[in-house]
Amino acid sequence: MTTTPTPYSLLPTDFQFSQANLQDYADCPRRFQLRYVERVDWPAHEVEPALENERHMQQGMAFHRLAHQHTLGIPEEPLSRTVTDIDLRRWWRNYLTRGPGNLPPSRYPEIVLSAPLGDYRLTAKFDLIAVDAGQRAVIVDWKTSRKRSRRKWLVERLQTKVYPYLLVRAGAHLNGGQPLAPEQIEMVYWFAEYPNESARFAYDAAQIEADEAYLTSLVGRIANPPYPRTTDERHCRYCRYRSLCQRGVEAGPFDEMEETELGEDFGISLDFEQIAEIEY
Ligand code: SF4
Repeated sequence: MTTTPTPYSLLPTDFQFSQANLQDYADCPRRFQLRYVERVDWPAHEVEPALENERHMQQGMAFHRLAHQHTLGIPEEPLSRTVTDIDLRRWWRNYLTRGPGNLPPSRYPEIVLSAPLGDYRLTAKFDLIAVDAGQRAVIVDWKTSRKRSRRKWLVERLQTKVYPYLLVRAGAHLNGGQPLAPEQIEMVYWFAEYPNESARFAYDAAQIEADEAYLTSLVGRIANPPYPRTTDERHCRYCRYRSLCQRGVEAGPFDEMEETELGEDFGISLDFEQIAEIEY
């Protein structure tokens, strides 16, 4: 059941929260305001050299497409013939030979789940959910970052909280109509550049309780301005609004980009018509 948003909220009532926009708020409330409330399209690069970053993003998207097509059953050989880029070829080989093992048999690639959260909805597009109905489910997220993300950094990412939470709250239809228990869920980040160094996260009842409290409070805060600028200026380095905020003019260097801050969230573009809406 939903309630009416507070009258002073600047968000439209149909605003959809995602791990990406929640992460933006967690990093910097002002960035959230500029990007999602005021929709300011500030003409600045987030990373330099921009072309190298663009190429990396294109490679990442191409890898996600390959993994998606392969999961749908397209054979390896015709897919391999399409791979000409040298980095992509290495990632694809790693995927084929050292992809995440021991996955449950029913595979749901590029699936979108959505559930109510406070007065709004929370939505996510998953790279892959693998399910053994009644037994267990594994969320797989493909990472094509140059650096292998640190576990501590991943633990704190909204993605690590939002994905398992949504699978419990909105994934019953993948599990024979029964909600999955938190203990039946595992989240795996698989790194195309580091195929033997997946990061695995178990889930449990205490974690979902903590995540729900955190997410609900976060959404409550977001719905009610102000949106102050972050005091942690590391977030400004790769933020396109830095000149607007007088936090510098030069884009952060691609080589020094810490982990997957940018260009890795290929689930940002959600097709809301595909969303399986599960009401509670
Ligand atoms: S430049 Fe810094 S303060 Fe301004 S929106 Fe970006 S992260 Fe926030």
